[in-house]
Amino acid sequence: MRTVAVIGGGIIGATAAYYLAQDSDLQVTLFDDSHGQATKAASGIISPWLSKRRNKRWYNLASAGAEFYEQLVDDANLDENIYEQTGTIVTRKDDAAVDDLYNLAMSRLQDTKAIGTVKKLTADEIEAIMPIVNCDESGIYVSGGAKINGQKLVNHLISAAEGNGMTTVKHRVKISNNNEVILGDERSKFDYLVLAPGAFLKELLTPLGYEVDIRPQKGQLVDFRLTDKNTDRLPVMMPESENDIIPFKDGIVTIGATHENDQGFDLEPTENEIEELTESGSKFIPELNSATQVAIRVGTRGYTSDFAPFFGKLTPKLNVFVAGGLGSSGLTTGPIIGKKIADWIIFQTAPQALELFTKPVDTYIRSK
Ligand SMILES: Cc1cc2nc3c(=O)[nH]c(=O)nc-3n(C[C@H](O)[C@H](O)[C@H](O)COP(=O)(O)OP(=O)(O)OC[C@H]3O[C@@H](n4cnc5c(N)ncnc54)[C@H](O)[C@@H]3O)c2cc1C
Repeated sequence: MRTVAVIGGGIIGATAAYYLAQDSDLQVTLFDDSHGQATKAASGIISPWLSKRRNKRWYNLASAGAEFYEQLVDDANLDENIYEQTGTIVTRKDDAAVDDLYNLAMSRLQDTKAIGTVKKLTADEIEAIMPIVNCDESGIYVSGGAKINGQKLVNHLISAAEGNGMTTVKHRVKISNNNEVILGDERSKFDYLVLAPGAFLKELLTPLGYEVDIRPQKGQLVDFRLTDKNTDRLPVMMPESENDIIPFKDGIVTIGATHENDQGFDLEPTENEIEELTESGSKFIPELNSATQVAIRVGTRGYTSDFAPFFGKLTPKLNVFVAGGLGSSGLTTGPIIGKKIADWIIFQTAPQALELFTKPVDTYIRSK
């Protein structure tokens, strides 16, 4: 039997572990301490098609990642508390910008059906679809947009993998240059390592003599509870120049998120940022000013200097796989990366057309 250690139980590690554990020829161990995890702090938006980012590899990966959710929902039996396809509304302050977005969505619809239906909406139509908001901007609606609960998703995938024999070790670990995982005085050797530690990749690899192009970005968001409002099955709203509004069941509305590049790995909520999020959200939902804050979530995103995610083999001979740099769209790109790495190990063949999705790993990680 071949042995695999997955380091990091965020969205990449949990998806990889889920698929790896289905192969009865593999003995899988997941190491994760959840500290600073981006996945459990994330807003949950899956809707890459209206992004104006020019990076083609990023778009290919994000679009394939959004499409891949259909398979993940089926494979892992995800219910509506974990994944809900309720559409996305993106607003713009002027009509020319709305037309631009509409044209972009229509051209992208040629390549992926996952976008679903694309519609232009007036402010009144937005209020009709999204009765919890006051809106004076028009926008675009795409029915394929979805929202996920990152924490519930990884818990679900990990417990399904444990049901297939995976062992989970809830500790922070180190690794050696010899495929060993080091926990205190104990060293365990594995046939394969999958490194998916999010923003902490530099911390994991620097002691082994690697230079790693990953930096941390702090993200904060607030979950409010609205009483007397039905928030079930509402779309996500992404207003221009304001924070996103993500309604979940039972009156929960998430407003997020901050992108703080100068706070390192700090995980403390800060009053200023929480006030700004509340103010931004209350421009559309005035009740937020008096609503109960049920949670403030803080996580650390990992970014590369070209803002692109990457994945592949770190050391061809030793079978060490690595993925990172998912930035602010990692809920969208994470599952497909995890699946491709799992297939690579199971079938011992690199994914087809890998260069369409990622630059080579040595663009971001170099031996000193
Ligand atoms: C506030 C916020 C909002 C966001 N909103 C969205 C969104 O709406 N849509 C979207 O697509 N993306 C969003 N993102 C981005 C997305 O959450 C991340 O890109 C993605 O979750 C990263 O996944 P990951 O598996 O690479 O890392 P993580 O989720 O960070 O997981 C890494 C795990 O590895 C563990 N770990 C690290 N080092 C070790 C070690 N040495 N030993 C053991 N365990 C270790 C960590 O504790 C952590 O649990 C958001 C992020 C934040 C912070």
